[in-house]
Amino acid sequence: MRTARLAAPFLSRPLILTALVALAACGPRNDPQTEAEDSSAPTIETVTGDNVIDLIVEGRYIVTMDEQMTVVTDGALAIDAGIIVAVGPAAEVNAQYTSDERLAGDSRVVLPGLINGHSHAAMTLLRGVADDLELMTWLNDYIFPAEVEFVDAEFVRIGTELACWEMIRGGTTTFVDMYYYPDVIAQVVDSCGMRAHISATVIGQRSPDAESAADSLAKGDEFIDRWKGKSSRITPIFGPHANYTMNEEQLTATREAANRLGVPIAIHMSESPFEVEYSKQTYGTTSIDFFESIGFLDGPTIGAHVVWPTDDEIRILAERQVGVIHNPTSNMKIASGISPVTAMLQAGVRVGLGTDGAASNNDLDMWEEMRLAAFLQKVDRMDPTVLSASTVLKMATSGGAEAIGLGDKVGSLEAGMRADLIQVSFDDVHFVPTYDVISHLIYVADEQDVASTVVDGQVLMKDGKMLTIDTARVRQEATALAARIQSALASRNN
Ligand SMILES: [Zn+2]
Repeated sequence: MRTARLAAPFLSRPLILTALVALAACGPRNDPQTEAEDSSAPTIETVTGDNVIDLIVEGRYIVTMDEQMTVVTDGALAIDAGIIVAVGPAAEVNAQYTSDERLAGDSRVVLPGLINGHSHAAMTLLRGVADDLELMTWLNDYIFPAEVEFVDAEFVRIGTELACWEMIRGGTTTFVDMYYYPDVIAQVVDSCGMRAHISATVIGQRSPDAESAADSLAKGDEFIDRWKGKSSRITPIFGPHANYTMNEEQLTATREAANRLGVPIAIHMSESPFEVEYSKQTYGTTSIDFFESIGFLDGPTIGAHVVWPTDDEIRILAERQVGVIHNPTSNMKIASGISPVTAMLQAGVRVGLGTDGAASNNDLDMWEEMRLAAFLQKVDRMDPTVLSASTVLKMATSGGAEAIGLGDKVGSLEAGMRADLIQVSFDDVHFVPTYDVISHLIYVADEQDVASTVVDGQVLMKDGKMLTIDTARVRQEATALAARIQSALASRNN
């Protein structure tokens, strides 16, 4: 590929062109740092009008999610070496660049890929295995025993692949995962092309891949060592489960290990009234206050749920820049409560969105999360003006990226950002007429409307066709494994 810089025409236009500056030099595909060409050599080429790049993506509208919420009509993105090199009117992008690969965009809306900030991907295999139960009953009587009995490396491989299929299909490009056998998860993510934070789960009980918290911590250390810096798409992190499944010493040890290795932590935080009560009785104070008191928030932290923070705890979350992940479907299904999302946003807390695992949702549909997040806040506050469509879209894109520490890489479509994006087809009758694109994305669109999904410049789904996952094999493997789980459950209950 050729080094390409955009020339004056893009920069001189006042309208929306702040997003158009193509400043990113296009380095070699694999590792720009190690393979960088001689830095003394001139890198700026004259624009010839036929700079050959990897991919051009077009859209009737490009919803950039930049600071100004710029929407480009009849736009295009130029992508090279995984990076967005230009965004602007299609006529101008096409005049500057050519590519063998192109995603046409007649009736399509292009936006940043959705960020699922909290999931347990492989739990797709436990989808619908036990519903309509209280959280602790669901966990202790169904999920934990089922996991000890059935979850092994093969379960995680199949379940994660099934989840990646569903997420790519629905326009999710990044997810934060907490499950077992993180090496297997990382291998699946590596091969299917998604971006993910993958947790080494730490829990104070025997789990499918460890004998104890100390064992899971030691194995997590090794996992992080193996994967840190290995792929630009994969961030290995620690995932201590919660303060009711771990004690203070185990939590502190996990924070210390994460800080020593320079990785974030993802944890369930203030999810249910049970957790808050447990925290008060065990530690003498509420959940988040307890985390703060032991120095657990001294480092990048992603807190899933945060349904029951006090006003004081909301202040702590903002001060500590904890990334909060709101999971409206799971919170409603398990009746965990209604998270004070509006108050947290007003206090400056970084809030993203997540699906939680498919056992408590029961799908990985971020469109549903966006819509429910908006509706739940409106009815909770009895105020339809809170959590507007654009606020919710931010939570699933740029805001979600900031919440998980990737705000400088993904979440908006601007020159220099990694090329994680989706095309949504506006062909379906439910988009007619279209007055406001962002309104339709939140209040109308669903995962079946996603046409194409791109991560790091690689097309993972094109016109609804999955390109990196053998869907027939995954369907067959998942169905076969579920049949084994079902017959084992049936014989246990007899
Ligand atoms: Zn969870």
